[in-house]
Amino acid sequence: MQHTTRQQDDDNRQLISTLSGKVYPFGRTEEFADNGESLEVVGPNDQQPVIRQGRHIWERFAGFLPFRQPDLSVSPGEGNTPLVGSGAFLSEFSGSKDLWLKNETMNPTWSFKDRGTLTTTWMAREMGEKVTATISTGNMGHSVAAYAARAGLQALVFVPDFTPREKIMPMALHGARIIRVESPDYAAMKKKILEMAGHLGLRIVSGNGPLRVEGYKLTAFEMYEQMEGEGPDYIVVPVSACGHIRGLFKGYRELYQAGYISALPRMVVVQAANNAPVATAIREGRKQVVPFTDVNTIAEAITTGNPMGGEEIIDKAYRHDWPAMSVTENEILQAQVGLARSGFFVEPASATPLAALQKLTGQGIVKSSDKVVLMLTGSGLKDFDVFRHHQVGVYDCNLHNLEETIEQAMQ
Ligand SMILES: *Cc1c(COP(=O)(O)O)cnc(C)c1O
Repeated sequence: MQHTTRQQDDDNRQLISTLSGKVYPFGRTEEFADNGESLEVVGPNDQQPVIRQGRHIWERFAGFLPFRQPDLSVSPGEGNTPLVGSGAFLSEFSGSKDLWLKNETMNPTWSFKDRGTLTTTWMAREMGEKVTATISTGNMGHSVAAYAARAGLQALVFVPDFTPREKIMPMALHGARIIRVESPDYAAMKKKILEMAGHLGLRIVSGNGPLRVEGYKLTAFEMYEQMEGEGPDYIVVPVSACGHIRGLFKGYRELYQAGYISALPRMVVVQAANNAPVATAIREGRKQVVPFTDVNTIAEAITTGNPMGGEEIIDKAYRHDWPAMSVTENEILQAQVGLARSGFFVEPASATPLAALQKLTGQGIVKSSDKVVLMLTGSGLKDFDVFRHHQVGVYDCNLHNLEETIEQAMQ
């Protein structure tokens, strides 16, 4: 891809802070406004975007995106993930009769993060950066490492010491430099690294940056196509840094503004009860994130205890009537088993939407007839540590007692 010239940057692409509307240049290195608010892209290629013809979703929705020369050669093939009906078992489990699963575990590094990494990789290319850095409990680092490798960038990944081996080892194979930081408080670790980023001249790609969010919009566009022009009533999303949920919503918002859908789906903010800074704020009617420290949950992919830009999600929840729900460790484990019993092996964070939906239908907040999509965000292969908490039965035998063992197992 050619580097876009400065002149082109100057036309209609800008970043705007999501609460107070302050404008920043598109090429800004820091991913948040000076006051910590999240930023979003305004002024994509087309002011009145239309869905175009094209083989790839990037081509069809190019008018909704701020990239001039999307270079698909850096893509290992994210997206195009199945949207499947839940089946009777999960319908029964969740109390939802019109339930769908968006299986994001089928992305190249087995989480939805890949969609946003494609767009941040394009941005790094466009800005002529040689290094791409991120702070991650695993999935984001893994994704950034893979895409950087493909794009010929050096990846630098900061991980907390509780990151599962399953996530660190692939990053290393992709060639990333991994810096493992011992810090009891992941939020404090992030803050410290972000503070140093400016004078190190590093763009730290975060989970809630404006360019990443542009990539997550594609999930909404893809679901719009898969649902043949409809939107669901609810999309249930495990929330940590807050990028995924706002990207999904921004995609639907732009479809709505362009006249393609007549109603916006509601997002459901799901967090682990042990770390629920955003869900707690919404449920208690506060405007600010309620910081959690000493976070300890099996859902390690959603452990941001004090997410930057979380206020945007809280604000949107009030404006658009989004429910919030937190789920206990036990509920997460049961939901992980429930999903596995219907054919989906997801990591604990990705089981939280099912657990939350069960509670929301139980409380009558979501009706059994509502059309609901659960986001299955990451693969179960990414975290084997969780098996400390599951009973997994295996019949052991040898060649002598094989037959009686088979009989036992068939009972
Ligand atoms: C990153 C991640 C989340 C949370 O998404 P955010 O954009 O950080 O809110 C949820 N599930 C999995 C598996 C993840 O990797």
